[in-house]
Amino acid sequence: MFTSINGRSVVVTGASKGIGKGIARVFTDAGARVLITGRSEAALAEAAAELGCEYAVGDVASREDCLVIAARAVELFGGIDVLCANAGIFPSARLADMTPDDLGSVMGTNVDGTVWMVQACLPALTASGRGRVVVTSSITGPITGYPGWSHYGASKAAQLGFVRTAAMELAPKGITINAVLPGNIATEGLAENGEEYIAGMTAAIPMRRLGSPADIGHAALFFASDEAGYITGQSLVVDGGQVLPESGQALDEM
Ligand code: NAP
Repeated sequence: MFTSINGRSVVVTGASKGIGKGIARVFTDAGARVLITGRSEAALAEAAAELGCEYAVGDVASREDCLVIAARAVELFGGIDVLCANAGIFPSARLADMTPDDLGSVMGTNVDGTVWMVQACLPALTASGRGRVVVTSSITGPITGYPGWSHYGASKAAQLGFVRTAAMELAPKGITINAVLPGNIATEGLAENGEEYIAGMTAAIPMRRLGSPADIGHAALFFASDEAGYITGQSLVVDGGQVLPESGQALDEM
């Protein structure tokens, strides 16, 4: 039986929809006080009303915005116990055509956004005495590849490099930092890849379904628990077995 996280203060970035919203829902259902963030205020206000939580507008690629978001959480809740650094983008760009803007925007949101958000929350997480950071990485980059996402894969692998050294710097402060590596999760963002992509992915997953945002939320809740307090610098793949088949034939023979 896990210790309740009822009343804990939680910030989830990129949570007006998709995985972040799913994470926020799992934490609000568990009785936590949650602040969600994103760039579009209208989408955030709607999601916050649905979830019964607070929201703050900001772009995680901006260090200043991250500081404002962290300050707002402290103002509302008196502190921050858990940061779920989830905001991320995955526009497609083939290497041959990639522009500085393509690369800069993906790295800015996915890598800079993770680093600045963790840094901004550090004082409050330290004061918590049981601070937890959960980063949403991906199987794409750390484990798998997909044409059009070399910059995205690099950003998601970079997050894991960050997590490992940050874990060492944060351990003396009683803070753990871990990463969840989702496979293909049914979100608004993923739907933009089209029906053919979704069908192909579903066929490649041993569990024969895409994951749900709640699947990632439950993994984040585990890392946020008191019972996971001795786990840091690690990553957990949540993908319905997608990375397991050695070949298409292996899938056919299931
Ligand atoms: P999504 O449906 O597109 O939602 C992305 C969320 O992040 C939105 O709330 C968006 O709101 C916010 N966001 C985007 N850029 C931001 C920025 N610069 N600053 C603040 N908020 C920002 O995406 P998703 O599929 O849920 O993906 C969420 C995370 O999971 C990403 O890190 C992604 O790499 C990772 N992931 C997803 C999958 C998947 O299959 N879906 C698989 C592996 C990993 P605004 O646009 O209003 O800012």
